[in-house]
Amino acid sequence: MDDWPDPLPDDWCWSHGRVEHDDENTYRACMECSHVFQTEADLIRDHNAQLADMRTRHSEEASAEMHDATSAAEIWTCPHCIHDF
Ligand SMILES: [Zn+2]
Repeated sequence: MDDWPDPLPDDWCWSHGRVEHDDENTYRACMECSHVFQTEADLIRDHNAQLADMRTRHSEEASAEMHDATSAAEIWTCPHCIHDF
């Protein structure tokens, strides 16, 4: 964290260590890490990428139960900090 500014600016994303601005067009900002999902598609893409990564570390049986989300309604946690929305 040596290169993080001090104090941290507004809109600082703790998951990525950078400023991420949200505005009235932003789909969702995580309440915990402040990551900004500009669109629902961004959230679904990041969520499914996390699942793809998890599948590489789990058994075939467990992986078979990890279905990609097709809608944000299926996603309850931030894919970056795993905090509940
Ligand atoms: Zn988060």
